[in-house]
Amino acid sequence: MSLSTETYDVIVIGGGVAGLSTAMQLALRGAKVVVLERERIGNGSTGRAAGLLGQLRGNSEHTRMLMDGVEIVKELEEKADVEIFVQTGSMRIAETDARAEEIASLVRMGKSIGFAIDHLPADEVKKLLPYMRTDDLIDACYCATDGHLQPAELVSAYVKVGKDHGVTYKSNSPVTEMLMAGGTAYGVKTQDAEYHAAVVVNAGGPWSYLNAEMSETTLPTAAIGHYYLTTRPDSQQPIDRLSPAIRNRELRIYSRPESGGLIVGMYAAEPEIYDMKRLPVDFDMSAMKASQASIDVALLLDAAQRRFPWITPQTPMNITTGIMTFTPDGRPFCGKMPNIEGVYHCAGFSGHGIVQSPAIGVIMSELILDGNSSYDLTSISADRYFDVPELKARQDIDTKCCEMAGNYYGKVERPSAPAVS
Ligand SMILES: Cc1cc2nc3c(=O)[nH]c(=O)nc-3n(C[C@H](O)[C@H](O)[C@H](O)COP(=O)(O)OP(=O)(O)OC[C@H]3O[C@@H](n4cnc5c(N)ncnc54)[C@H](O)[C@@H]3O)c2cc1C
Repeated sequence: MSLSTETYDVIVIGGGVAGLSTAMQLALRGAKVVVLERERIGNGSTGRAAGLLGQLRGNSEHTRMLMDGVEIVKELEEKADVEIFVQTGSMRIAETDARAEEIASLVRMGKSIGFAIDHLPADEVKKLLPYMRTDDLIDACYCATDGHLQPAELVSAYVKVGKDHGVTYKSNSPVTEMLMAGGTAYGVKTQDAEYHAAVVVNAGGPWSYLNAEMSETTLPTAAIGHYYLTTRPDSQQPIDRLSPAIRNRELRIYSRPESGGLIVGMYAAEPEIYDMKRLPVDFDMSAMKASQASIDVALLLDAAQRRFPWITPQTPMNITTGIMTFTPDGRPFCGKMPNIEGVYHCAGFSGHGIVQSPAIGVIMSELILDGNSSYDLTSISADRYFDVPELKARQDIDTKCCEMAGNYYGKVERPSAPAVS
């Protein structure tokens, strides 16, 4: 039986925030786009995210991109007529000299590019976060324009605006084959249909390296486990819904308020690697369960209790676990590979794809429609490891990406932007 064929300008594989933002931006510029999702839209990593929108990164160009992203979210709120962004501000805190130096250099870098950031005196930290241990802190900085959102609301907004501009969304449509002729992709195949287009975007999240293999390409990403807890509301321990998010990199944890409780997540030193090939084809990330007895949860609880001493193993809480996609340097892969025309990768958001997605959608649409971008893409180009022989075998890729994830909060950042006096 021959399959039906549909023709579009662009096929997006993956209905997470990366694919949805890309599809929406392309459609806003008039492209005819289909999003093919193997399961339900927004149910991959996106559906598990804690939703923090932290703009401050270890270098100025990435911080600038995330500052633009927050503005894009605000425009999206207007377009979709919804309120999704909760501006709470955020803090980085330091309990060692090395972390205090890290904060000082980040404040200099942030100020040099007009980011709203400053040191925060200890009494202010205590006033803003009465439920956090502060007696051991030697410095903190405050980023006034940071905040958070519910990932499902961002997904709905991308889809609403996308639909308004003609995007077609197909759930339960796993892409099983890339259609190629003479080194150029011209579409994809699912069980039910063929889809033809001059451009195919691989926005497959943790599955993206498997999708890349369909086009005979090695994409050096790895699928890495992650955990966070959410305490239930407790009248003895009130958490203001507008309290700032916290990043305590020395303890490897972050936190934000959530429905009267507190989210605390951890970037483990030795995270778990998932082999996406071995997961069932109908794997549903939203059904993943974390055991309170696991070592990762024990480490998370221990670190959470050090900063928030009222959190104990007996505290009523939910534990969420999911899979992130890391790259060897913690930066995503955006764009084409030299070995094949027509395939654009958009993956590897290394723990912060929600906050990156608004600007990434713009970048991908510029790359696809204009052939270049208004952003400097050197550090996120898809082909930056193409010729590196040490990043060809799956085991080597997993090792490098796992090292990156383990160091993600562990390593002290040295911002690359020149400091201003
Ligand atoms: C526990 C946890 C907490 C997090 N917290 C934050 C946070 O606070 N802030 C932040 O910015 N980020 C956070 N992240 C990271 C963020 O969730 C991801 O970076 C982001 O969701 C990645 O989006 P994506 O679209 O690339 O991937 P996904 O959301 O995984 O989407 C990819 C989609 O592609 C589909 N797909 C794959 N292959 C195929 C195929 N062959 N055919 C059809 N469909 C396919 C998948 O089913 C999936 O739905 C967190 C992640 C986790 C796991």
